[in-house]
Amino acid sequence: MAFEGLADRLQKTIQKIKGKGKVTEADVKEMTREVRLALLEADVNFKVVKDLIKRIKERAIGQEVMESLTPGQQVIKVVKEELTDLMGGEQSKIAVAKKTPTIIMMAGLQGAGKTTTTGKLANLLRKKYNRNPLLVAADVYRPAAINQLQTLGKQLNLSVFSLGTEISPVDIAKQAVEHAKKEHHDYVIIDTAGRLHVDEHLMDELKQMEESVNPDEVFLVVDAMTGQDAVNVAESFDEQLNITGVILTKLDGDTRGGAALSIKAVTGKPIKFAATGEKMDQLEPFHPERMASRILGMGDVLTLIEKAQEQVDEKKAKELEQKMRSMSFTFEDFLEQMEQVRNMGPLEDLIGMLPGANKMKGLKNVQVDEKQLKHVEAIIQSMTKEERLNPDIINGSRKKRIARGSGTSVSQVNRLLKQFHDMKKMMKQMTNMKKGKGKGFKFP
Ligand code: GDP
Repeated sequence: MAFEGLADRLQKTIQKIKGKGKVTEADVKEMTREVRLALLEADVNFKVVKDLIKRIKERAIGQEVMESLTPGQQVIKVVKEELTDLMGGEQSKIAVAKKTPTIIMMAGLQGAGKTTTTGKLANLLRKKYNRNPLLVAADVYRPAAINQLQTLGKQLNLSVFSLGTEISPVDIAKQAVEHAKKEHHDYVIIDTAGRLHVDEHLMDELKQMEESVNPDEVFLVVDAMTGQDAVNVAESFDEQLNITGVILTKLDGDTRGGAALSIKAVTGKPIKFAATGEKMDQLEPFHPERMASRILGMGDVLTLIEKAQEQVDEKKAKELEQKMRSMSFTFEDFLEQMEQVRNMGPLEDLIGMLPGANKMKGLKNVQVDEKQLKHVEAIIQSMTKEERLNPDIINGSRKKRIARGSGTSVSQVNRLLKQFHDMKKMMKQMTNMKKGKGKGFKFP
């Protein structure tokens, strides 16, 4: 998980102060010293750390903490608020222009994830905000980038505007905007060229494009794995262009946190989105408060709920409830449920969003046994439709066949059948209880 080292150290530090009924200046000093070291080790900009610690100290030995009934908790609240502010405070939303289309220019160094993020952003705009974006291939120096964008467009079923590599990017951008107006696209997302380093020619071209299409957003895509370098890149781009926001990519890796925590403070530009993987749905609006909460081990229940809501179709959820009540829940439904949870993302990431997950011994560094889940899936998939609907018919020879078909053993098949049987029994008890026939469950 990203920020693991930082999260570990900060959580240990706040744990010490959490339950204190009285917090002395010495306690605050010790805590801030540890917070400072943790942040520096996570590659957060030196000056940013200094200012942050100063603010935390002032507030933590101020009235709001010392006179509070729960000073330990209050100190943690201060740390959380300051971390949130550091990352921009409120969530920074994407622009919606008064006139359509809203124009977005994507800038950044080569390899930062610009082209991938262009696809992801379009996908998000369509899925979450119901928009009709046009992708524009204006990276004429890397012909593969045009193909890459076209492939993404096909995969996502989104239009891609391209004029090949013989026309200047500025002209491509201008014509793309005209095209979008005609075709009623409400967003235009322009993928521009990147270089290995910031260079003058590239900047000139981007500046010209900015002047000629007058974008509503100029997003700088930066690779979070590059830490302080990402912050330096952001500073140099910002000197030349009117950057309106940052998109941090590769937050799924073991980034230490430096870029996420310093970029807003150093450049004044908010992080608007964060990418957490190579797949097209792995881009999320960046919420400073939720991120601070995650780093401090308080979990990110809101994101978890949102992810669940995206996957669960309400009509289907109602049907499922009905099935559970009427005892007609089958292995088919079970399989579907498993797929829905899977679609929410890697299980490790989901667990990381649970409050206190970092502290729980059993959960920390948990490698969710994907293999075991795959076995369960394989067993169900090896059943015939009839068996899935009515598992009671699964006798000895059927069990052998299912085990063979799924590459598992009869005892694994037995275990799953027993679990399913127990689950149904429990549902029955719960339903009976609702009907007032409460057996098995007693309330005091
Ligand atoms: P560009 O040169 O800036 O257009 O970069 P690309 O979009 O081609 O991305 C460079 C590499 O980074 C590709 O292999 C992407 O799949 C990968 N990548 C982009 N975003 C992410 C991310 O959020 N997580 C991970 N793990 N990889 C990413």
